[in-house]
Amino acid sequence: MPHAGFPPFRLASGWWFRPHGVAPGRFAIRILLVEDDDDIAARLAAGLQPAGFIVDRASNGEDGHAMGAHDQFDAVILDLGLPNIEGLTVLRKWRAEGRDMPVLILTARGTWTEKVEGLNAGADDYIGKPFHIPEVIARLRALIRRKSGAASATLTHNDISLDTVSGKATVRGRPVELTAFELRMLSYFMHRLGRVISQNELTEHLYTLEESTESNTIEVYISRLRRKLGRDVITTVRGLGYRMD
Ligand code: CA
Repeated sequence: MPHAGFPPFRLASGWWFRPHGVAPGRFAIRILLVEDDDDIAARLAAGLQPAGFIVDRASNGEDGHAMGAHDQFDAVILDLGLPNIEGLTVLRKWRAEGRDMPVLILTARGTWTEKVEGLNAGADDYIGKPFHIPEVIARLRALIRRKSGAASATLTHNDISLDTVSGKATVRGRPVELTAFELRMLSYFMHRLGRVISQNELTEHLYTLEESTESNTIEVYISRLRRKLGRDVITTVRGLGYRMD
């Protein structure tokens, strides 16, 4: 979904720059929003983006299924009444294919059978329409925290601490200024300690679909994180990628 108010612009170097549409210094999480109603989708995106979420939207079940099957998201917001393929079928297909990202389903008010069916089909939580944005945000964060196995909102590793709610990072208790993209990258590593993460995986995960990516920008961000957090924070695994351990 285009970031309203954050149009791409040409840099002096001639490159086009597309801002993430995320307030600097906020923590970002990548969400797939599958919703056919334009007004609801726009309201959700407008509410989630300032809170640091990156939102990619599909407006029908078929696209939603394909995006969730072929791309990585921290969580999905899934409407049940969708064109092409209905939401419950999309969810069952993902689960049958081994896709285990947290899914928050949107249900019509008062339809308890939908909630039961949704949970039985593999949903992690549900929220009824009409909803309040802060509740959607709180539920998404809780789902993502639970999935990552972290009980609290603060991730710590060696000298580094990252509060995933406020997006504040510290090294040995000293605050470190990180851009939204750097925070996103740090959180990605901190959720996957000890695992080798390829440049490809980082590129796929950290950018939204409409952002063009240059393969060498990942290296640039890795070296910035090292400069801000310490040289040994992220190890290069030659030919494979990077690891935090
Ligand atoms: Ca619908």
